Amino acid sequence: MVAELEVVQIPLDRVDNFSYLIYCPATKDAVGVDPSVEPERMLEEVARRGLKLIALLNTHGHMDHIAGNGTVLEAADVPLAAHPDDVPDADIHLQDGSLIDLGQGSIEVLHTPGHTPGGVVFSTGTAIVAGDTLFVSRCGRADLPGSNVEDLYHSLQRLKKLPPETRVFPGHDYGPQPNSTIGWELKNNEFIRCPDLESFVRLRMG
Ligand SMILES: [Zn+2]
Repeated sequence: MVAELEVVQIPLDRVDNFSYLIYCPATKDAVGVDPSVEPERMLEEVARRGLKLIALLNTHGHMDHIAGNGTVLEAADVPLAAHPDDVPDADIHLQDGSLIDLGQGSIEVLHTPGHTPGGVVFSTGTAIVAGDTLFVSRCGRADLPGSNVEDLYHSLQRLKKLPPETRVFPGHDYGPQPNSTIGWELKNNEFIRCPDLESFVRLRMG
């Protein structure tokens, strides 16, 4: 039997970013996602839960997500995996459809450009760690260097088609609750609800 991967959401003290662990409850193998500026929180959580870190992943290359990479990589001696458009020095270059084996399960990589060119979402099949592509009740900015509002629209259209019970774990704590589901977003997120590109551009860039 294949164990369902678990997602641990790690709130930080100094910033509104979330770090994450995704792990296999059967083997205790884990990956860290976006250590942000408080990488010690991720390392503490790994130790507290008795997990074994096998890789560090980044959803995208913005400094508030990757600032702690060095600390985790030094402490754990694991490879860094990310999309090369955002993190060119990653050890493992992720693409759309890449699979990351984790214990008895695997994580699928969805390339979701728009906020940044190399933004990715990590899917366990029942949950997504969505970086700055999708937030609870909001979505990422598309007015930054490297952003593309049309790409972001198409990335959100793709996430919208995931099963409604899929849990959504965002890159920042911007919503009325720390996480949600795709079904909740379809009811409450005006960005993902936009019926066409034109209305999305108006809402996002207006
Ligand atoms: Zn960002």
